[in-house]
Amino acid sequence: MTHVLVTGGAGYIGSHACKALKAAGYTPVTFDNLVTGWADAVKFGPFERGDLLDRTRLDEVFAKYQPVAVMHFAALSLVGESMEFPGKYWRNNVIGSLTLIEAAAAAGCKNFVFSSTCATYGDQDNVVLDEDCVQMPINSYGASKRAIEDILANFGESNGINHVIFRYFNVAGADPDAEVGEFHRPETHLIPLVLDAIDGKRAALTIFGTDYDTPDGTCVRDYVHVCDLVDAHVLGLKWLQDGKGNRVFNLGTGDGFSVREVVDACGIVTNREVPMDVGERRAGDATKLVSGSARAAKELGWAPDRSKMETMVVDAWRWHQNGHYEK
Ligand code: UDP
Repeated sequence: MTHVLVTGGAGYIGSHACKALKAAGYTPVTFDNLVTGWADAVKFGPFERGDLLDRTRLDEVFAKYQPVAVMHFAALSLVGESMEFPGKYWRNNVIGSLTLIEAAAAAGCKNFVFSSTCATYGDQDNVVLDEDCVQMPINSYGASKRAIEDILANFGESNGINHVIFRYFNVAGADPDAEVGEFHRPETHLIPLVLDAIDGKRAALTIFGTDYDTPDGTCVRDYVHVCDLVDAHVLGLKWLQDGKGNRVFNLGTGDGFSVREVVDACGIVTNREVPMDVGERRAGDATKLVSGSARAAKELGWAPDRSKMETMVVDAWRWHQNGHYEK
């Protein structure tokens, strides 16, 4: 069996990655502390509960499975929270990742696929955010992810850790079979919050700021379907196994949607009113994050076919109505 260690495999993106890995013939081993993940979401391979800061536990798991690669999803990833509690982000994300990378190096596991973020680019006006763009994060979340990219670059040089880094834009949608989906407690992400407002699970969606320098005044983001996103990870893993070397790829579509446009799409797909109100800007939010995303298509052969806004909302809505997890 060809094992891949999936940190954060009990979370939203990690659980979808486990499904894709299994479909591609790998056995995903989930390593997760269940702080934000769900045991119920681990459906496609073994589960090892543990924390990235626990080196002894990591060593045990590497020795038990001898994985050919690590896919590292486990992280705290909320922009707003990262502004309030930066230490939590530096400790969990940066020290946790360093501990994991050191454990992988010691175990001789040399292939590493890492979840980074467009938040490492910061707030840059009128710039196409391609992979060569300068990284100037404006929140602690983005800063923590950029630091991990630097750690990987150093370990690539010194310890031969081959790495593919994916900088995600906004991940949305759910498994079309609704076996796994997006389920955060508390929920902070736009599309699930809109769907909660639509079916009465919350009073209203609050739009965070309408005075941005965008056509309708709300923030613009580039949304990518979670299934497309994890397909890129499997391609990235093959890239590493084929010895193609260290590479950074953006994962987005190149199309920007404002918050209001996303809300409208949710209203159309569900054929329901969206109760909403307008609030203050959220600390740490960039005005516009849209990907220059040609590299993944050209070099990995990545085709984000499900990443149409309507498809993402249809899949999210199906999961929203039928799926949930219990601890
Ligand atoms: N957003 C909003 N209201 C909410 C949650 C999010 O207006 O209740 C906006 C947020 O300011 C951002 C966009 O929706 O511009 C996407 O936010 P999300 O938290 O989903 O993802 P992020 O961009 O932080 O990764």
